[in-house]
Amino acid sequence: MTIQWFPGHMAKARREVTEKLKYIDIVFELVDARLPLSSRNPMMDEIVQHKPRLVILNKGDLADHEETMKWQRYFKEEGHESIIINAKEGKGIKQITSVSQMLLKEKRERQVARGMKPQPIRAMIIGIPNVGKSTLMNRLVRKNIAKTGNRPGVTKGQQWLKVGNELELLDTPGILWPKFEDEEIGKKLALTGAIKDNLLHLDDIALYAIRFFNEYYPQQLQARYQLTDDQLAEDAVAQLMTITQKRGFRDDYERASEMIVQEIRNGQLGRLTLDRVENWEHEDE
Ligand code: GDP
Repeated sequence: MTIQWFPGHMAKARREVTEKLKYIDIVFELVDARLPLSSRNPMMDEIVQHKPRLVILNKGDLADHEETMKWQRYFKEEGHESIIINAKEGKGIKQITSVSQMLLKEKRERQVARGMKPQPIRAMIIGIPNVGKSTLMNRLVRKNIAKTGNRPGVTKGQQWLKVGNELELLDTPGILWPKFEDEEIGKKLALTGAIKDNLLHLDDIALYAIRFFNEYYPQQLQARYQLTDDQLAEDAVAQLMTITQKRGFRDDYERASEMIVQEIRNGQLGRLTLDRVENWEHEDE
């Protein structure tokens, strides 16, 4: 399900998240490791403010690991701890509890010093559509569907889900809108399936993807579509035509575009990272 965002929806989404923030100790900001900034809500800092935050780079299996590590350094410099996970297979999710405990250590120590029994950490997942919020929640509460019931500190109709004995998760994630401000971000979001295909032309997305692979991962493109060195040296439009013919689609470029986009989303062209740290650092200057 992809949401169409209008100003009214955005304001409502923001209100809902803000309302729930007061019940939680920490925010789990879920982003797509292939595009850690483009898949981030543009108002995240403003909305979350000083609440402790853990940045979770999901879909780590689809991203270029070297780049993901660069992003972790970027977030660290920004003042945020981050972890890399694959929610689909449950990889890396154990760190969520341990890193949260580390981030909230002082608060817990204060509780203990006052003779209070440390309470489970209360958290909420926030992210744009399709970033993997439901997948992660299902993974985390898999064997622990038992809800914690009518404990205080929760809005009507909301419940806490137990994740082991140390963590409690709000049962509905916060869904916020992605960045739409520039066309390139829109293409990246469409290519990874974060926004509806019909918002952009598929052939534009496919051409954007082909150009991107030519720049960063030419061998992966060449291997998948068995392009000769001469074909790899051609421009993206010529390459799209070549791929269309090779797949037996004659001149149905639309069909070939759809296939290319689908194959990239599925990881069939290998891992890729669309947001490059160096470009964003450069843009900030
Ligand atoms: P939500 O809208 O944020 O709740 O996103 P979903 O949990 O529905 O996930 C969107 C899509 O991403 C689904 O097809 C998931 O199977 C897929 N997905 C979620 N996490 C991962 C992951 O770590 N790796 C991969 N490859 N796919 C994932």
